[in-house]
Amino acid sequence: MTTPCVMIDLDKIEHNARTIVGLCRAHDIEVCGVTKATCGHPEVAKAMLRGGVATIADSRLENIQRLRAAGVDTSYMLLRIPALSTVDAVVEAVDVSLSSEPVVLEALSDEAQRLGRIHDVLLMVDLGDLREGAWPDDLIPLVRIASGLPGIRIKGLGTNLACFGGVVPSEENMSHLAELSAEVEQTFGLGLEWISGINSSGLELIAAGNMHTQVNHARIGEAILLGRETTKREPWQGTFQDAFVIHAEVLEVNSKPSQPLGKRSEDAFGNLAQFEDRGNELRALLNLGRQDVDVAGIVPCEPGIDILGASSDYLVADVSAAAAKIRVGDELAFAPNYSVLLAVMTSAYVEKCSLREGKRVDQ
Ligand SMILES: *Cc1c(COP(=O)(O)O)cnc(C)c1O
Repeated sequence: MTTPCVMIDLDKIEHNARTIVGLCRAHDIEVCGVTKATCGHPEVAKAMLRGGVATIADSRLENIQRLRAAGVDTSYMLLRIPALSTVDAVVEAVDVSLSSEPVVLEALSDEAQRLGRIHDVLLMVDLGDLREGAWPDDLIPLVRIASGLPGIRIKGLGTNLACFGGVVPSEENMSHLAELSAEVEQTFGLGLEWISGINSSGLELIAAGNMHTQVNHARIGEAILLGRETTKREPWQGTFQDAFVIHAEVLEVNSKPSQPLGKRSEDAFGNLAQFEDRGNELRALLNLGRQDVDVAGIVPCEPGIDILGASSDYLVADVSAAAAKIRVGDELAFAPNYSVLLAVMTSAYVEKCSLREGKRVDQ
């Protein structure tokens, strides 16, 4: 194994999925596992499926193609609104896509008809988070168009919250979604299979028993991957927070002053960093940098390691208070937040190492 690497504990992911699926199942909510933060990692998807998620969703077509090519046998939803220029590949590769624009729906329908298929869509409505989706006033006209397209089947109605505007799922916005769904069903005589209300930010609402009973579908990524709900990023009960751990290697250990010497200007990234005078400290240089992670989003797994900063290729840490003596060649472990998880899984410079029952499974 080379460093830096990210160790993926598939048993913890499976366990986390089982916990979340159990909670949702008790409230008649089906869970779709979201793999996008892992770039559609096949072993991660398989662990989610073993843990009981019904289907897999990812935001990138390439990731879904990767999962299919790896033989992960499930049904796939594309979580990002497709570009008009990609509709052919979308109909080819995915079972359900998110939709909100008439022109895209028409193109999807044409391509589906050409292939002799029906393409399922989850129509997205924006309930205030101000990212994707039709505005509620425009929903009925959108459904009118979609329901008239021969290559399209409306699988359900969905909304996404807590991603752009930070709007928290609530009894009010979930009721609004349920009302809109009822209106769609009555106006067009449709049966909606999925009322897809939430992502990892909606778990509190479910656990508190306040989720609207009509909402029957959830798209869950972070709570399964990192064991956190996402309104306060609190650990979720019964889940692991350390299914992903980043390992970097110590390149140098030196005793140096805590403040730079000489006249100072801006650093490599245009910042004028401030340094507190803490006298001499034992500083470790590691092979992890801004090209691999956002250092604000990692936390050392051991006590006594203080991250001082990073440039493109180096992380600098004060290891004076570390319990064991840190030596060149040692590995230090760090816990990623969601944005760092996305970065390390995307970086070609970080090795991915997945473990099941302690054994590597991705070689
Ligand atoms: C990313 C995403 C999700 C999953 O969000 P988590 O907070 O990781 O659970 C769900 N729905 C949509 C539309 C998304 O883009």
